[in-house]
Amino acid sequence: MIIDLHCHTNMSDGALTPNQLIDLASERGVDMLSITDHDTLDAYAHMSSVPPGMRLIPGIELSSRWRKQGVHIVGLNIDLSNPVMASAVAEQSAIRLQRAQEISVRLERLGFDGCLEGAQRFAHNQIGRPHFAQHLIAVGAVKNYNEAFKKYLGAGKAGDIKEHWPDIETVVQWIKQAGGIAVLAHPSKYKMTRTKLTELIGDFKNAGGEAMEVVSGLQIPSLTRDLAKLCTQFSLLASCGSDFHSPDKKWAALGLISNLPETCNPIWDRWS
Ligand code: AMP
Ligand code: MN
Ligand code: MN
Ligand code: MN
Repeated sequence: MIIDLHCHTNMSDGALTPNQLIDLASERGVDMLSITDHDTLDAYAHMSSVPPGMRLIPGIELSSRWRKQGVHIVGLNIDLSNPVMASAVAEQSAIRLQRAQEISVRLERLGFDGCLEGAQRFAHNQIGRPHFAQHLIAVGAVKNYNEAFKKYLGAGKAGDIKEHWPDIETVVQWIKQAGGIAVLAHPSKYKMTRTKLTELIGDFKNAGGEAMEVVSGLQIPSLTRDLAKLCTQFSLLASCGSDFHSPDKKWAALGLISNLPETCNPIWDRWS
């Protein structure tokens, strides 16, 4: 079984349309897929059909804040017509727009004019920092995506604004009220010390979080073992996903995911 429960379309910062993504997943033999765009469910309204044999789990990746740090929480198997989730998405979209204006002002202070309009040209729908990165590349301010984040958009840089995001308790409750399971996304990407990561997982669990990503794309076995241990320690369900954004990012390829260790309780057991 190929199971990918974390990926993006051009309804947020991915490169493919929802239909293109589903076609690619089908080519790769994905049996169970969740599209988890940043703070939007629009992909689910923009797809024609799901191939027979592929199970689509409605999902989302919500932005939150924990101790002044940005943390992502995936909501899986949510009810797409839930009114709480609809208003949550509206709130998050409003935050994204306001935040984009602020990012633009900050970049202007560094000498780059018109960044909001520039970023908006790359955003099909929900705007985010990757669209600013694309604009900075297009105007020749940076050579590539990595440089854009390293200099201007990544952690601690001018364009890194996360103060507006809701706390993890709020986000977990939205997901639960929409009938879904809250999953702590890519725990190793926050580059936290062991102590801090353990505290985050503890707070997430106390907030009602029920799962964490033990596998995010292709990762080294020692990391998988380590995350599996934390997952078991906190009695959480285990999830896995590629965090696919675009076909040219080879390290996050759709459907290409390391196996979950046998010791884990997979999240999908809840749905079978
Ligand atoms: P945003 O949703 O606007 O906060 O932007 C976050 C997105 O930017 C993530 O989901 C990644 O797709 C991308 N991203 C974040 N940090 C980096 C980084 N250091 N290098 C490249 N892409 C990044
Ligand atoms: Mn992204
Ligand atoms: Mn994320
Ligand atoms: Mn993601």
